[in-house]
Amino acid sequence: MAKILIVEDEKAINDLLKLNLEMVGHQCVPALTGKEAIRAAGEQGFDLMLLDVMLPDMEGFAVMEKVRDVPTIFLTARGATTDKVRGFGLGADDYIVKPFEVAELLARVQAVLRRTHRAEKEYTIGDITIRWDAHEVFQNGERVELTPQEFALLHILIENRNVCLSRQKLLSEAWGTDFLGESRTVDVHIQKLRRKLKLEDHIKTIYKNGYRFEE
Ligand code: CA
Repeated sequence: MAKILIVEDEKAINDLLKLNLEMVGHQCVPALTGKEAIRAAGEQGFDLMLLDVMLPDMEGFAVMEKVRDVPTIFLTARGATTDKVRGFGLGADDYIVKPFEVAELLARVQAVLRRTHRAEKEYTIGDITIRWDAHEVFQNGERVELTPQEFALLHILIENRNVCLSRQKLLSEAWGTDFLGESRTVDVHIQKLRRKLKLEDHIKTIYKNGYRFEE
């Protein structure tokens, strides 16, 4: 779980970002203006800031100059290449082009959190504890051996908790994009994961779509 400052003046987009990030377990603070963002960042610490370039009271770049030491992903309008270049020049970690897809948003957020070492180190659900860095899984204090694919599957499912992931997406994430497997492979590994960790109630099959990890 990360604490994320969302700086976006379009309320509908701000709400959408907040909704999706909270769905996967992050805590969000919305700001609709640059001033609000600078005030929030002065009062509390954040792991990440999503920052719109075009704000009513100032440019996102000016906000970034005031808010130091918070990893930043710029939100920019389609095709605004100069925005991106300027953002990276200021030390932005990534950018998202609006309109964005939820899956892309979550992937970019996770990538930056991982890169800046602000991703969660440990995850606990029921009697299961997972240590991401060490690739270790414990149930009732006992180590459970997972294959690298099972671990990768579990990771991507939990990182995108409450979001349905297609078999194709799971294949490309857990096996790498070059793997020419069949979606059946995913089903087999999901079955094994469920059995090994007794996660039948948490890893849901979504008819015709894929799988979803529910807390
Ligand atoms: Ca805007």
